[in-house]
Amino acid sequence: MCGIIGICSDKDISKDLYYGLYSLQHRGQESCGISVWNGEKIDYHRGMGLVSDVLKKEELDKLKGNIGIGHVRYSTVGGSHISNCQPLVGACRGKKLSIAHNGNLINNLYLRQTLEEEGFIFQTSIDSEVILYILARYYKGDIIESIKITMDYIKGAYSLVVLSEEGLVAVRDPHGFRPLVLGRRGDEYIVSSESGSIDILGGEVIRDIEPGEIVLIKDGNLKSYNYRNNYKEMKKICIFEHIYFARNDAVIDSVNVYDFRVKSGEIIAREDDVDADIVVPVPDSGIPGALGYFRKSKIPFEEGLVKNRYVGRTFIKPDQNEREIGVKLKLNPLTSVVKGKSIVLIDDSIVRGTTSKRIIDSLKKAGAKEVHLRITSPPVKYSCFFGIDTPRRSQLIASKKSIEDIKEEIGADSLKFLSLEGLFEAADFKNIFCMACFDGKYPMKPMDKEE
Ligand code: AMP
Repeated sequence: MCGIIGICSDKDISKDLYYGLYSLQHRGQESCGISVWNGEKIDYHRGMGLVSDVLKKEELDKLKGNIGIGHVRYSTVGGSHISNCQPLVGACRGKKLSIAHNGNLINNLYLRQTLEEEGFIFQTSIDSEVILYILARYYKGDIIESIKITMDYIKGAYSLVVLSEEGLVAVRDPHGFRPLVLGRRGDEYIVSSESGSIDILGGEVIRDIEPGEIVLIKDGNLKSYNYRNNYKEMKKICIFEHIYFARNDAVIDSVNVYDFRVKSGEIIAREDDVDADIVVPVPDSGIPGALGYFRKSKIPFEEGLVKNRYVGRTFIKPDQNEREIGVKLKLNPLTSVVKGKSIVLIDDSIVRGTTSKRIIDSLKKAGAKEVHLRITSPPVKYSCFFGIDTPRRSQLIASKKSIEDIKEEIGADSLKFLSLEGLFEAADFKNIFCMACFDGKYPMKPMDKEE
């Protein structure tokens, strides 16, 4: 999972890219970077760490350009390493290119091996480099044509921003797995993974880039192209964006993320009969769901866990040991609130089960009488191949255990998940989502991934 942004303006835009990336920080904290086109060359700066650590003022001052792209990274394919930072920058036949990618290709290995046999030497271990190489290979002067050819090769999830001398290009794969939104600020255009960055930059959201759409922006003009056909009916937007990834202020493909989350909590409360004293969210991801639960059940809403906001998302810590320490560091129970209480604890999802187990344990140690865990999404039973870092099936607690066994394992007094029907209802019954992590119905067959 990553965040991407692109801006096309007539003035220097590195500071705007910086602020835009700042607002996408929740989508990846491992590395970040920006690249800008100044009419002659592409300048860039990338590094490991948070936006505020990597993109210092001295660096931004050196990056002069009126078209640019940016990326924040959360590693899925390829390790957490400086060589894997984006945007990637390259040149072929004298034509400079830079790309930033969000999503996962499902035929990355196949393409990489084929290119290697042809003599390509890869400098990174990320699938995005495969995209850059194919694009550069077919880029002979018409960026749209070369993007269409690249799209013939690459399969899977990709939202892309591309910097070229022909302008800024934004691309969304034919299923639209990952979000990409188009906005405007005067004569300038902004494309971003989330609408919140467009608001923050003082722009106005125009619309989502459609699945299979390619947009070319230059000198205040925008042209839209379709990759082959009209792909609207193939929409398979990742429902996990709404469940967890996107910020509450995002609206993705006309579904408001905050409303979706509140509604999920209302729906799960509607069918619940637990007799508890308080509703407590797991901050921050469980807050809207807990609010919805409280509205429907009328059980008082309390802040029973204090979050250390300076700790990143625990999921990004690559090994299990670090992940466990991360959970402890991140959330501390408020003893005065939870002691002696029967609690309905709300979180958005259970993946491996680590987070819930730790939290329930700490709530009990703080004196909670009972903890009834309610999860505002169904059990994650299947791996994701399209950019969410849900691991191999064997690591997904719900792939091998029943709800009763999960309850035992994590130490909850009771456990309920939102049903698939409830999820569908929360998403306004729109049939536009990929829910493969819950129902195993993959929109396309994973090619080189291990289940
Ligand atoms: P786990 O501890 O593996 O069960 O992870 C579940 C917790 O991590 C929940 O509190 C979620 O808010 C969060 N979460 C769920 N899915 C993801 C993901 N793909 N990446 C990062 N965090 C996640």
